[in-house]
Amino acid sequence: MTDSPIKSPPDDIPEIPVEIVSEEEMALIEAAFSATRCSLPSSFISSAASSSSSHSRLSLVSSVSSITFHSKRRLSVCSEAHTVGDIEDSGRLGAAQKKSKVPQSLLDRFRRRKGLAITDLTASEWCEKQMEFSLLYGKPRRTKAMKAGSDRHAKLEEEVIKKVKVRVKAVEDAWGLKLMNFIVGSNQLLFEGLTRELPLVGLVDGVWMVGVIDEIRMPLTEEIRTPSLVDTKTRVQASLPSEPQRRNGRLQLMCYKYLWDNIVADSFPSDHFFDFFGLNPLHVLSEDIIEHAASSGFPVKTLEDLVTCFRNACCLMPSAHDQLLLRYELQEDHSLLGEDKFAYDSDWLKSQIQCCLEFWMGNREARYVPTEERWKCRYCKFASVCPTNASTNSMPS
Ligand code: SF4
Repeated sequence: MTDSPIKSPPDDIPEIPVEIVSEEEMALIEAAFSATRCSLPSSFISSAASSSSSHSRLSLVSSVSSITFHSKRRLSVCSEAHTVGDIEDSGRLGAAQKKSKVPQSLLDRFRRRKGLAITDLTASEWCEKQMEFSLLYGKPRRTKAMKAGSDRHAKLEEEVIKKVKVRVKAVEDAWGLKLMNFIVGSNQLLFEGLTRELPLVGLVDGVWMVGVIDEIRMPLTEEIRTPSLVDTKTRVQASLPSEPQRRNGRLQLMCYKYLWDNIVADSFPSDHFFDFFGLNPLHVLSEDIIEHAASSGFPVKTLEDLVTCFRNACCLMPSAHDQLLLRYELQEDHSLLGEDKFAYDSDWLKSQIQCCLEFWMGNREARYVPTEERWKCRYCKFASVCPTNASTNSMPS
């Protein structure tokens, strides 16, 4: 892998020290334990009301269909149910496992019908044992810094997307929403050259993976238009992250590229998708979704219709650029602290994913952080019960 240093900030920004870890960075890592931002519970109902929005309308003619899209528009549902779903699912599955005495992998136990989030991969890369603890005992509470980071992402998203709440009645609707958001976002990218918070889902190395790309840029004027993936990390202090933190961020962006390239290559196995996530392809989507899809230019009735539109939208997109960009900005004023431009390293990424899947699939025990990265343990919520650091037997609250 090309180990490019973090690019220096512009001249008018003073030299910025590199620190090992900060509260906010730990928050970012801890945030990785939250399942993907748009991951779906097995079922839920949103009470959100729909509303209309002003938007520019763009036309796109493909070989498959003539589609008109609303740009600057993204649909959303309340996501609080997801946390509840996690806890309930883990309890139910844990009880079922005890009863049957059949050992289950963490993937089967905690990510069945949800898919593995890219943030699950990065959290495992940080410390597999910590990931395991968080699955078994619950995620760390959201800190102020984590909330500030999420708020910043929401703000960045609002700059290019107007959110519209829609009512969903079944898990099929919720998936439909995610696919619609991809279709709308990818067309915004095609016609405006920028989109943010784009949801992804794809089958990678035999595992369903989900994620949300912070930002994709695609120059409007160049002859060869290649999407560039960007991730923004916010920091509490005016310092740049340590190498393990940067490595973790690089892994995340490379995973997104891997997933993106996978789905735009039309390797989306629809039947497998319906089967794995327990979805009825013939489910008639909620009125809100049907209405919004029609007004966005792709009339659909069933989830299967929407999957077809999703695949068509994927086929219109090129593979992502090999150059990836991590931005570090100060939480306080959003000033740029530095940029990390690096090249996609397919071999390194595949070995990282393979290693991570061994752990998730139960082929081996969770690993602890290596000796040179034991400083991570000082910031770990599970340090008191971890065999590497155990000083008490009580579980963290
Ligand atoms: S104490 Fe250290 S090794 Fe143990 S789970 Fe936490 S970070 Fe990992």
